[in-house]
Amino acid sequence: MKLLEATEKNIKIAADVLKSEGLVAFPTETVYGLGADGLNPIAVAKIFEAKERPTFNPLILHVSSIEMLNNIAEIKNEKITQLTEKFWPGALTLILHKKEIVPYIVTSGLETVAVRMPDNKVALELIKNIGKPIAAPSANSFGRLSPTSAEHVANQLGEKVDIILDGGKCNIGVESTILEITETGNYLLRPGGIPKEDIEKIIGKVIIKGSDIENPNSPGQLKIHYAPKIPIYFYSKKIIEENKNKKVGGIFFSEIKNDSLFEVTKVLSKSGDFKEAASNLFNTLHNFENRNLDLILVEPIKKVSLGTAIMDRLTKAVNKYK
Ligand code: AMP
Ligand code: MG
Repeated sequence: MKLLEATEKNIKIAADVLKSEGLVAFPTETVYGLGADGLNPIAVAKIFEAKERPTFNPLILHVSSIEMLNNIAEIKNEKITQLTEKFWPGALTLILHKKEIVPYIVTSGLETVAVRMPDNKVALELIKNIGKPIAAPSANSFGRLSPTSAEHVANQLGEKVDIILDGGKCNIGVESTILEITETGNYLLRPGGIPKEDIEKIIGKVIIKGSDIENPNSPGQLKIHYAPKIPIYFYSKKIIEENKNKKVGGIFFSEIKNDSLFEVTKVLSKSGDFKEAASNLFNTLHNFENRNLDLILVEPIKKVSLGTAIMDRLTKAVNKYK
């Protein structure tokens, strides 16, 4: 790991590291982010590996221009433009319909993507230099405090990150406000740096997602997890017996088993690399659910490294069809 002062020259060096699939921690006005090339699924998988999170969660893509926003998301609502004009750059994250270029590992399989433009010169310069959005959660290890200085990042992530750009302390120190606008209304998914009242002045009433008004029967519940539309089970002899005459898709970690039983198969990583497997997981599930199959069988994998997060996601999907 290199801890570098955020000079123009060092920002260029950091951008080169991002371009070659590396990880760079950088300051934003909220907290330090752990950044990777947001359009490269392997680079994004490295974020989850470094954070040692036992689960995947959707990441925010950080952009430096509206042009970049238009490359990754569909802007269907006039309100979005009003909000970006008023609050960007700033601590407002918008949930938008993603374009195909955004890999599913960024959104944990969702069709929507979270985007914001950070109000920090170093962050904006870094994004401009790679010319692509940077995917970045907070640069802390799982379960530890979000870092507001380069030193915090160095203490927590150490050698797991290639470069830390030191841009001093973060101004706000709280996370961004997350907002989703749909046909049915404006929803606050997470309170943060930009107050709800300020947003309401621009686009009218904002409903707190999961609040009693929005859904009286399940306060506080957020559906942000993707599961395939067709049944998915863990691969076992018993399940294979039960589904002999069905059209089955098989997902394997590094090697196909019983090829003849399957209509279609996918190996997540021939070399048994967890990063590569993670980078292929959500794409594969999406691909299979659109192939006219009756069900998907997936081989359980070892719960080490990113295997833990992969198994967490698969277990949740399998549980839906139990
Ligand atoms: P942060 O913790 O600041 O990195 O923000 C990431 C959070 O944004 C996630 O934990 C989700 O709660 C939220 N998020 C990201 N993408 C989406 C999405 N497509 N739909 C709903 N919430 C999202
Ligand atoms: Mg965090």
